[in-house]
Amino acid sequence: MAVADHVNFHTFMEGVKKRNPGQEEFIQAVREVSQDIFAFIEDKREYHEAQILRRMAEPDRVISFRVCWEDDDHNIRVQRGWRVQNNNAIGPYKGGLRFDPGVTESVLKFLAFEQTFKNSLTGLPLGGGKGGANFNPKGKSDAEVMRFCQSFMTELYRHIGPETDVPAGDIGVGNREIGFLFGQYKRIVNRWEGAITGKAQEFGGSVMRPEATGYGAVYFLCNMYAHRDDSIEGKTAIISGSGNVALHAAEKFTELGGKVLSLSDSDGAIHDPDGIDAEKLNWLKALKFERRGRISEYAEKFSGTEYRDGGEPWDIEADCALPCATQNEIGKEEAKKLVDNGVKAVVEGANMPSTLEAVEVFRDARLMYAPGKAANAGGVAVSGLEMSQNSERVSWNHEKLHDMLTELMADIHTKCVEFGDDGGDYVDYVKGANIAGFKKVADAMLAFGVV
Ligand code: NDP
Repeated sequence: MAVADHVNFHTFMEGVKKRNPGQEEFIQAVREVSQDIFAFIEDKREYHEAQILRRMAEPDRVISFRVCWEDDDHNIRVQRGWRVQNNNAIGPYKGGLRFDPGVTESVLKFLAFEQTFKNSLTGLPLGGGKGGANFNPKGKSDAEVMRFCQSFMTELYRHIGPETDVPAGDIGVGNREIGFLFGQYKRIVNRWEGAITGKAQEFGGSVMRPEATGYGAVYFLCNMYAHRDDSIEGKTAIISGSGNVALHAAEKFTELGGKVLSLSDSDGAIHDPDGIDAEKLNWLKALKFERRGRISEYAEKFSGTEYRDGGEPWDIEADCALPCATQNEIGKEEAKKLVDNGVKAVVEGANMPSTLEAVEVFRDARLMYAPGKAANAGGVAVSGLEMSQNSERVSWNHEKLHDMLTELMADIHTKCVEFGDDGGDYVDYVKGANIAGFKKVADAMLAFGVV
């Protein structure tokens, strides 16, 4: 059969839509990747014949389960939990757990699909997975969160393990939740083993893991600038979110001589024209990580700051934009605003924060645009290094982890340039990340035959 006779992109996407009715986020993620992959494999018969992309876009398995727990008023509550194990061709499934009322099977399938490419890009032996529950930890007592986590793990434990599937944190799953989840896992299996990453350092966590995603995104930006003989020094940034990724991205951006003008949460955004410096960031970390407060409190504390109730930061003039909150937070209109306002670099700390239409705007404007699967891979990379430390029963120091993270982000940048350089002065980082991420997994799958 001639290569040309094989299924084309449009027929392929029709099939994806038909097999995944109503799963808009998953379909969006597959479409974004597949456009580039179809162009890459056009003349590569082996990938077509082995149906590699079709197999990658069908999770190995989707596990869904009931999670019952009792709230403080003794009401019985029922939630739904999931683990999506997308692909383990190059290593155990690996990807975070998200606890958020907006979690659906579609969201987790998109995240697990993206994670497969991201983990491949790190160069570490990590497959792709994701999981979570439609549980909202906000406003719950510690005891309620503990009971939920224990119930969730009582089912999840049988599907995970250091050689099988290694979850971590994500939206709504931070230190507290990881502690409860790991405590219950260890209790059930009666083994201390690195089946979860993002642990606190007292019980097997890696230094640099909390910082890794945000810092890594900014290192990626440094590499993009360096590729154009420029740097972060003196640049301004608008950042969304005020969680783990956003605050660490802001910290590193500031440390490297830039000025951060905004942060946000799901209630609104702040605009501080004086810049959110190190001292203000320390206050914010205590607000968000210890007191679980709202970003609006920043405007009450620091004069000269505007609080935009229900608003976003995307119309503030700046050199760089770092969406670090959630998926689809930048649509076509916001993307146009960014371009019109002179933003030159968009670096995704969050997963798929830009819609397909927004990505088109960025690509058409040929600005430096780094998709999440490349720019936010630092977190999972250090999680991979946490797994290595747990297996070896060692703890590496800050300097070693810092150097490894810096090198990993530089390597990912190099891979993106290898496959995304158009020969002129433009690098299509989306294309570069998609192809580089695909190739390693695809070649492993070819080696395994039809499994
Ligand atoms: P956190 O829960 O620590 O923070 C999430 C932040 O985003 C909060 O400020 C939250 O506000 C805000 N947010 C959540 N949902 C919305 C929404 N619908 N609209 C506006 N703001 C919202 O999560 P992380 O920082 O860990 O994760 C942020 C993003 O980064 C996610 O896309 C995640 O998948 C991605 N990511 C995270 C990694 C990690 O290592 N943690 C690794 C790679 C990617 P509020 O407090 O009001 O909910």
